[in-house]
Parts: sequence; C-alpha cells; structure tokens
Amino acid sequence: MGMRRRWALLVIGIPIYTVALMVLMTIAVEALEQTEWADLAPHQFVLHIVEIIGDGDWWVTAGVPAAIIVGSQIVFLIPVFSKRPPRDERSRPLLLSLVIGAAIAAMLTFALLLGVGEFIETVLEASLDLDDALATTLLVATVLGSWVFWSAILLIFSRSIWADRALGRLVGLLLGGTLLEVLVVLPLDIMVRRRTDCYCFAGTFFALCLAVIATLWLAGPGVVIALMSKKHRLWRETHCERCGYAKGPSPGPVCPECSYAWVG
Ligand SMILES: [Zn+2]
Repeated sequence: MGMRRRWALLVIGIPIYTVALMVLMTIAVEALEQTEWADLAPHQFVLHIVEIIGDGDWWVTAGVPAAIIVGSQIVFLIPVFSKRPPRDERSRPLLLSLVIGAAIAAMLTFALLLGVGEFIETVLEASLDLDDALATTLLVATVLGSWVFWSAILLIFSRSIWADRALGRLVGLLLGGTLLEVLVVLPLDIMVRRRTDCYCFAGTFFALCLAVIATLWLAGPGVVIALMSKKHRLWRETHCERCGYAKGPSPGPVCPECSYAWVG
C-alpha cells in the first residue's frame, strides 16, 4: 500500500473508528445500567440509545473518553509499525507501550477494588466507614500505586523481544485478566443489584463498565497486532533479525553486515 493511500486510510478511518467506539461504549454502559435485562424492550432500548446520541452533550461525554482510548491505542501500537528490529537487548523501545498497558492493568485493579468494596458494603453490610477525603486518597493511591507496580512488572518481563510478539502477548494477558475480573465481579454485581435502589452508582456497576472499556480498548490493538505479525514474520524470514540487512536469494549462515548468526 502506497504512503498516500495509507495516510488517507488513517485520516478517514480513525474518525469513523472513534465514533463507532463512542456508540459501542454507550450501548454497553446503557445495557449494564438496566437493572433487569428486560427493563426495556429491544426497540425501546434502541430508541433510548438514539435519544442519548441525539443529545449534543453525547459528543463530549462519549467523545472525550473515546478520544483518550484511540489516542492511547495509537501510541501503544507505534512500536508494532516500526520496520526496524530492536537493535540490542538492552534497548527499551516498548517503554511507552508498556506504561500504557500498565495503565489498563491499573484500571482493572481499581475496578476490582471498587467491585469488592461495594460487595462488602452493600451485601455484607459491613460499613468500611471511610470519610470521603480518605476514600478518595486511598483510591488515587491505589490507581497510581498499581500503575507504577504494573509498569515495573511489565518492564521486567518484556525485555528486548519483538514489538508485535511482546505487545501481542501483553494484550492477550490483559484480555485474560479482564475476563477473570468479569467472572469475579459479575456474581458480586448480581448480589449488589438485589440490595440497592440506586444501582447506577454501585461500585460493581463501575467495575463492569471499566471491564467493558478495557475490552474495547484491547480489541483494537489485538486486531492490528494480529494483522501486523503476519507481515513481520515474512520480514524476519527475509532480513537479518538484528540489523535489518536484506538476506537475498542465497543467504550464508552469518550476516555480512553485523555478523549475527542466522538461525535456519
Ligand atoms: Zn545483521
């Protein structure tokens, strides 16, 4: 694909993708907010969504989170599009992507805390008895603390490997973590729903919303990485893994550029 066509695709594709994401997020959150799945008949639900989207505020309330999602997805994916292989073992070209991945992990940690906290307060009826200032401080500390924690973990375990492999594996792990979280929070959420009148403020509701956002966030890079890694595999077969030298029709056992011993 030519450079100009690629840019045209991006310029048209990104806004369409962003709006699609806004609609999907709205549908998911509104569906979660129904206390019973049968609260609204399907056609009523569709009308409800259309009404929300028709409201001018929607472009801000859904647009800002969608823009944050798309922007961070693009930054996360930059190393996957780089043609050059990582030059040496110690280079950390994935740093920014890993920090963004860690932010998703931190979000899931925060969601788990919200869900379990709500369950303790509403179902077990054990008041945590925190005043608002302390609760806010604790939540912020948890988010920042787990972000730093997950960044460190990811930096330690994702050294030097190829961007599409490392980030593909990271997306897979985060999707697994999201699924696990939903499996933990969903039963808690069902119990909370039975106990509370103002469900839309429930911690388990927010936890599930965050899990939905995490899934939507991960799906985009997941698809792009799957498409790119096929291309990258081809590239690796025809180029030196270390320096990017094009191997040619009858490659020897060693790279003439950097004397790296080629495998296979
Ligand atoms: Zn080489």
